Amino acid sequence: MNRSALVFIAGVFLPSLVLGWLALRTLGEQQIILERRTAELFQSEADSLAFLAREMMVQRQEEFTLEVAGLIGRQPAAAVAAGFSAGTTRLSPEAVLFAIGMDGRLSDVSADSTSSRAEDFLRENRSFLAGGAATEVYQAPMERKAAAREEASAAISKSKDSKVMEYSRQQTARTRNVVPQKMAELAAPAAGLPAAIAPEISDFQNATATGSSGILARFVNDKLQWFFWTRPEDADGITFGCMVPTSAIRAWMESLPERIQHPELCLAILDERGRPIIVSQPAFEADWRRPFVATEIGDVLPYWEAAAYLLDPAMLDSATQTSRAAILAVITLALAAIVVAGFFVVRDARRQLDLAAKKTGFVSNVSHELKTPLTAIRMFAELLEGGAIDDPAKRNKYLRIITLESERLTRLINNVLDFARMDKKHKTYQKRPLDLYSWIGSVWEGASLHLSESGWQCHWQAADAPYPVLADPDAISQVLVNLLSNAEKYGSDTKTLELHSWKEKETLHVAILDRGPGVPSGQERKIFEAFYRANDSLSSGVPGSGLGLTLASRIARDHGGEVTYSHRKGGGSCFTLILPLTKEGCL
Ligand code: ADP
Repeated sequence: MNRSALVFIAGVFLPSLVLGWLALRTLGEQQIILERRTAELFQSEADSLAFLAREMMVQRQEEFTLEVAGLIGRQPAAAVAAGFSAGTTRLSPEAVLFAIGMDGRLSDVSADSTSSRAEDFLRENRSFLAGGAATEVYQAPMERKAAAREEASAAISKSKDSKVMEYSRQQTARTRNVVPQKMAELAAPAAGLPAAIAPEISDFQNATATGSSGILARFVNDKLQWFFWTRPEDADGITFGCMVPTSAIRAWMESLPERIQHPELCLAILDERGRPIIVSQPAFEADWRRPFVATEIGDVLPYWEAAAYLLDPAMLDSATQTSRAAILAVITLALAAIVVAGFFVVRDARRQLDLAAKKTGFVSNVSHELKTPLTAIRMFAELLEGGAIDDPAKRNKYLRIITLESERLTRLINNVLDFARMDKKHKTYQKRPLDLYSWIGSVWEGASLHLSESGWQCHWQAADAPYPVLADPDAISQVLVNLLSNAEKYGSDTKTLELHSWKEKETLHVAILDRGPGVPSGQERKIFEAFYRANDSLSSGVPGSGLGLTLASRIARDHGGEVTYSHRKGGGSCFTLILPLTKEGCL
């Protein structure tokens, strides 16, 4: 690998790759932030639903308190308590009512006409309600604030017997049934999150010792039971209670879905076993225990959760995937642009180096080309000057050589000067309408005469004159001289030269054909580049500067035409000058 490629890789390509990598890393971080934001946003939806559910329970409990207060306003508390369990509540026809006197005795219970429900209730709860059995209870007193609650529990531990103290020590915390995929602050947890609420070990009377109303829940046979209770001020210490069935809670919740519709989420309330109680999108199905985010509803509905599920789980990824694809596309494009630009820079640098090498070659070629004719001219001029040559034929031959060599010198100097002018765009043409036939004729005459003397077979196959063109005759003659002199240089082994001239619709074609070696294949275009020589003159023995075809082709282009090369059938070269004919010359 050469130096410029290494510099390109180290200075441009690698930093670009590092930048691309940094961009992707930033994108990854953005994705995490986006997910966190979305999780926070959806978490607030779940929080609102949990709040609504809590409010619903609190409202119902307050309704129960008001109902009892209404009864006590009309009758003495003891009388209300005596008939309380036989009555019904507006909360639910299936609720079981009970009253507990100041002495801790449970009044008889007979829930409406279905005595089996009353029997079940008494069997399951009698000792708990009457203060004989402590179990895990979850309580949400209505009016107790945090400070009051602390005060109350302190009072309990002071006033009650050691049993309460022991109960408190036995407190156990269950884990949540639901494992949210995302949590605002934490990464997704594996499993078994601790629940925010913790039960107390207590019986009904201890649990309701402080405050005047509340909601109390406890597990019976692994199912939650809810007790609304109230102890009105003017009820002589009697506690009125009501066991609310889950079916009633479910019925209350059924009004919620209208209020919790969300375009991207399915919101649901899950019971203590993680089963959906209500669902905002009835057709939605999911692993209910793995919501996107979830919130515990709290003491009023222990282990119940408000959960949110993504309607389209791919939604989160698709946003980041789009931006990831966009960044990848930008990086790929940038890298591609760098590679392409690098390729062009390297190619340009190579060209410059090539050109520099060609120019160096040109200097040595031209020095060589100048030296050869000069040496010949000097040698033959000295011979003639010495007067030693008496033979007139010999003298003429020497004079002819001097003329030819000086012509060669003139041609070379003209080419170099013209090239310099063209390079600086100083070359001007004296264009005029002319019949090129006669100009081709005079160039051909000079060349063929001199070539025939050296044993060449020269033949001009010409279409009828005139060849009307708009051209600078000297410049066009220079093109022909260059092409003829190349044919002479490179076709000297076979010594045959042909010139074909013909008209084709709107163009004039002048082809110069030789039977030399032809241009090596693959170099047909390069020979028209400045200083390019398919065979270096110093090594091949054929003198040249690499400018003849460059000039010929530029002059032709400046006249609206071109010079083309093609291999000649049977071997040799065919260079054709094509020029536009003026209107009157067009076929
Ligand atoms: P020069 O002849 O001074 O080297 P030119 O620009 O006239 O420069 O030609 C460029 C190259 O094209 C030559 O070096 C030679 O390799 C090739 N070339 C030109 N004319 C002929 C020809 N008639 N036959 C074979 N090769 C040719």
